[in-house]
Amino acid sequence: TTEIYYDDDADESVLADRTVAVLGYGSQGHAHAQNLADSGVDVIVGLRKGSSSRKEAEADGLEVATPVEAASRADTVSVLVPDTVQPAVYEAIEDELEAGDTLQFAHGFNIHYGQIEPDPEVNVTMVAPKSPGHLVRRTYKRGEGVPGLIAVYQDATGDAKEQALAYAKGVGCTRAGVIETSFQEETETDLFGEQAVLCGGVTELMKQGYETLVDAGYSPEMAYFECMNEMKLIVDLIYEGGLMEMWNSVSDTAEYGGLTRGKEVVDDDARENMEEVLRQVQDGEFAREWITENQTNRPSYKQLRQAEEDHDIEDVGGRLRELFAWGEQQKEEVPADD
Ligand code: NDP
Ligand code: MG
Ligand code: MG
Repeated sequence: TTEIYYDDDADESVLADRTVAVLGYGSQGHAHAQNLADSGVDVIVGLRKGSSSRKEAEADGLEVATPVEAASRADTVSVLVPDTVQPAVYEAIEDELEAGDTLQFAHGFNIHYGQIEPDPEVNVTMVAPKSPGHLVRRTYKRGEGVPGLIAVYQDATGDAKEQALAYAKGVGCTRAGVIETSFQEETETDLFGEQAVLCGGVTELMKQGYETLVDAGYSPEMAYFECMNEMKLIVDLIYEGGLMEMWNSVSDTAEYGGLTRGKEVVDDDARENMEEVLRQVQDGEFAREWITENQTNRPSYKQLRQAEEDHDIEDVGGRLRELFAWGEQQKEEVPADD
């Protein structure tokens, strides 16, 4: 069984004499920087000149410098700018990394696919909270934490794992529990999950269901409710108590229908398609495509995004969420700012 690390397994003193530069102050950056600082770690935020995040970081009481200045003063550099800009930011700060410094990530893409190739004398670690940044911050302030992953890609100092655990403790993850993985496993499972199941799989399933009903003459409003809106209720039940909690909560009719017809929709062909998606993740085909896309001003990405925005289900859903009170109630549950 997988070992789970908690607060007692992590020694925060490993970071006591290290300055941590947090590059980027977005979703993860603002949470890591503030949680680490509140945990007593010496933190400096690195932001480019004219950065729109600078005011926010300063208002939160943090010292802000350029990425180069921050990296030069730091012993641990946490790279929390978007994955697509990390290679360029790394190039700018590379010379500031000394032997024994630690380069820290929250996702393995650029290391695993060779877009960043750090000197062997530098530790390369990952602490990846399994949660959006605003929850990383919000749970920390409540004295709780979100689960996380740690990984070590390069251990130059012999204590890279201890440093990752200490960092995970500083951001609050060891309060909930942390498991160890590798950069390869984290990257490949993360990409596969978001493509085949979570972001890609779920949205295609919803759109195909919606279109099937609308094409058969049913009203778009009904199709939206049945194929999109109710998804959250089902997923919440599975999140809380697993598949059986969900099956036990729906009607026997829904259970029998789902257990028999679900496999007709997501069938052996779909499984083979998933294996093909996984292959493209494993052999780097997806990574190469996405890197090229970014180097050429994202032509396909822009087109696909526009088509998604123009889909009828967005129109119908937008109108219904305005009309019904639940849309407003849900917005209020998510704090605009932490
Ligand atoms: P964001 O998109 O939220 O990062 C935005 C920050 O990066 C801003 O402070 C922005 O500042 C800065 N930035 C953007 N472009 C540049 C640039 N060219 N040079 C310098 N700074 C720049 O990133 P995330 O927090 O989403 O992701 C950070 C890392 O965390 C990624 O590796 C991601 O995979 C990982 N991760 C993200 C999760 C999430 O929930 N979002 C979950 C787990 C891991 P400016 O104002 O200057 O634009
Ligand atoms: Mg991802
Ligand atoms: Mg129903």
